[in-house]
Amino acid sequence: MERFNHLKIRELKTLKEKISTDMTRIKTNLEEVDTSNIISQNQQSDNLDVASVDLANSQIIRMRNRESFYAKKLEMALKKFDSKEYGLCEDCGEEIKFTRLNARPTAELCINCKEESEKNENVMYVKKSHSYRETVDLQK
Ligand SMILES: [Zn+2]
Repeated sequence: MERFNHLKIRELKTLKEKISTDMTRIKTNLEEVDTSNIISQNQQSDNLDVASVDLANSQIIRMRNRESFYAKKLEMALKKFDSKEYGLCEDCGEEIKFTRLNARPTAELCINCKEESEKNENVMYVKKSHSYRETVDLQK
């Protein structure tokens, strides 16, 4: 049977479809946000105080950032189909199981390496949120 790394061609097709569906959805989302959702200064009504406009905008911007970040991951995943690296752990080179890829088509690490990196991420997160607070305090 024809295979792509450890994946069956049928499984590969499923994953590719998931990635392109997500890509289309995100692109549509980002375009919609661009044209309609950001509340500009001119559009601010008197009923909306600056803080709630800022909050709404920052939520939109955060959502956009998250979506763009995911879009980049999807693009990288698509490139890996071409280079035949898709489905292999970026860290240890192990095969990532189809069940994991099916739940997370952009998975870059096998479950073992992911767990390892999450432990490190937690440490980084604590550091990051700490320095963030310092930045905010400085701006006051
Ligand atoms: Zn690994």
